[in-house]
Amino acid sequence: MGRWSYSNRLTVEDCHRISTTFLKQHNYFDGGVVSGRMSWSCIGKKTGSIGFIISTVEGDEYIRLSYTQTDRFTTEESHLDYTARLESTPCNFGGRRWWFICPLIVSGHACNRRVGVLYLGGGKYFGCRHCYDLTYQSSQDSHKFDSLYRGIGVTPEQVKEFFK
Ligand SMILES: [Zn+2]
Repeated sequence: MGRWSYSNRLTVEDCHRISTTFLKQHNYFDGGVVSGRMSWSCIGKKTGSIGFIISTVEGDEYIRLSYTQTDRFTTEESHLDYTARLESTPCNFGGRRWWFICPLIVSGHACNRRVGVLYLGGGKYFGCRHCYDLTYQSSQDSHKFDSLYRGIGVTPEQVKEFFK
């Protein structure tokens, strides 16, 4: 469905992602330590999958990600296994909203942004949109982003503010 774009800047459609909304919908934040697996499909093809372990144990909240990444240029495969911290904030309607803490270190600085979505950009590791400098595609495609952001409970305007 998505159009191919051959610029060297990444767009969301090119990227695998994982969102706390998805994980919450599938009851991974209901307590304790749980494991799961998810796969993506892009343009109708299954393009990858990851395994994960989520701990919502108070004081030890994390997601451990485990997957094989194929370099898109060399086709070399590497196995990745690392954790990112999770945080939660109270919701207006009760319960808690969960966030990833971006695990990437860019130019020697730990990102540590609190985000609802992590992307597997062009790199080996999941990181936030800011770290991967994902681009908005042309205005024709902006509606896709509208629905993506509605999915994580904020408006595109809030997202633009957040990523400034
Ligand atoms: Zn980041």
